[in-house]
Amino acid sequence: MNAPVKAVSWQERARALQFRTQAFIDGRYTDAASGATFDCINPATGKLLARVAAGDQEDVNRAVAAARAAFRKGGWSNLPPVERKRILQRFADLISSHTEELALLETLDMGKPIRDSLKGDMPAVARCIRWYAEAIDKVYDQVAPTGPNALATITREPMGVVGAIVPWNYPLLMAAWKIGPILAAGNSLVLKPSEKSPLSAIKVAELAVEAGIPPGVLNVVPGLGGTAGKALALHMDVDCIAFTGSTATGKQIMQYAGQSNLKRVSLECGGKSPNIVLADYPDLDRAAKAAAYAIYSNAGEMCSAGSRLLVHESIKDALLEKVQAVSRKLQPGDPLDPETRLGAIVDDIQMKRVLGYIDSGRNDGAELRFGGRRVREDSGGYFVEPTVFEGVKPAMAIAREEIFGPVLSAITFRNVEEAIEIGNDVIYGLAAAVWTRDVTTAHRVARALRAGTVYVNCYDADDLTVPFGGYKQSGIGRDKPLHALEKYTELKTTWLDLS
Ligand code: NAD
Repeated sequence: MNAPVKAVSWQERARALQFRTQAFIDGRYTDAASGATFDCINPATGKLLARVAAGDQEDVNRAVAAARAAFRKGGWSNLPPVERKRILQRFADLISSHTEELALLETLDMGKPIRDSLKGDMPAVARCIRWYAEAIDKVYDQVAPTGPNALATITREPMGVVGAIVPWNYPLLMAAWKIGPILAAGNSLVLKPSEKSPLSAIKVAELAVEAGIPPGVLNVVPGLGGTAGKALALHMDVDCIAFTGSTATGKQIMQYAGQSNLKRVSLECGGKSPNIVLADYPDLDRAAKAAAYAIYSNAGEMCSAGSRLLVHESIKDALLEKVQAVSRKLQPGDPLDPETRLGAIVDDIQMKRVLGYIDSGRNDGAELRFGGRRVREDSGGYFVEPTVFEGVKPAMAIAREEIFGPVLSAITFRNVEEAIEIGNDVIYGLAAAVWTRDVTTAHRVARALRAGTVYVNCYDADDLTVPFGGYKQSGIGRDKPLHALEKYTELKTTWLDLS
């Protein structure tokens, strides 16, 4: 009789895990030219996880040169789309078959629950690459209606070398939203992951080469924002920067483009999204659960987090009671425990920032209804309780600034017009939601909200078929479906005289 197979815990798997820690340039792993490294800390324990190559200007130069050479050589850029499709599909398959390893890397690196990285993020990464693989041989160019004496074609061509700079909150998924369309369109790529979460991107680079993507087409240069990121955004031979991160860094990226070669810039930045619950919405249990998950998913480290709960004054107490009940069940736990729903905050700096906002809410006169403390301190990690403020006024910092933590600011309103006004009264415009049973009101409010995505009677619904991005200072351009291809291609008119 076979002995029963012993389940291996995620903690045991984590102990056995090997980390890739070097840059990946021209198809090979390599140390930073300077030999420098930076520390990757496990936010659930505060302990050192790995020392990772700290790329700087010289490494970026090498990566851009490799990307340009690969682009010129044409082994990827000139490949028929159907061939790129085949290889990208293999790449997606390899990501799928490495799901557990990649999920573990992300959970250790940035503290999100293993159930999220395993069941949510990594499958979404593979789906994204596969979506662009499948799409790219179905994209047609155009012929202009010029008349009989000319043939004018409007074609899309890859831009050349694209630099992608991405954040730590969904490390590989945010990278995949870039990698998919950038590579499908035939570009070469230099990817700079966040210094807080570089491990999954470093690993995935070798899978790209294994899938058949030629060396030099996908390069990964880990490093600090102010050195590697800046060098990439200032580089004279980078045609385009695809950025996801904070609005403050987005503004710097635009300046770097202006200071260098006027490279194209697309930005996916921060948010302070309003989640508006009108008095006529009948199912407060549903609205409360969604409101809680809108702010506690990914520990609130989510650009589209529903961080402002705008609630009609007549249902405020009833709704917050229910939000509080959900919050109580969502206590932070070990990210490697499959039962954990709320993981660690990415690092000490971010945790202090979140706690600083909680202090500022109290000092500004908001009422702390629930949570507000650091917890699990004995673990050495960085955990913050689900936190709910009520009595928040639109002028307070906790109502205006992106906290990027599990902190909900509840604001009351008296009528729909006021809700719209408060909803729009921030510098951001990434997402918004409205809950109502009235279809006319739903359309009217959705139209009035200045946000890239408006949810009606739901929050954070998502699919690869819909674009994602922001109005106002939440960004420029859109990620996902075919809209993203516009960011990474040049439009060419070719006029042929037939007279
Ligand atoms: P961040 O701006 O600090 O860093 C993002 C990336 O930029 C990192 O790779 C970092 O190293 C790099 N960087 C930092 N300074 C740089 C510089 N001077 N030059 C070039 N690169 C530089 O943001 P973060 O803290 O990593 O991520 C959180 C932010 O990302 C939040 O504001 C969140 O809303 C935003 N975000 C937006 C979206 C979206 O789709 N709109 C998605 C995820 C995250």
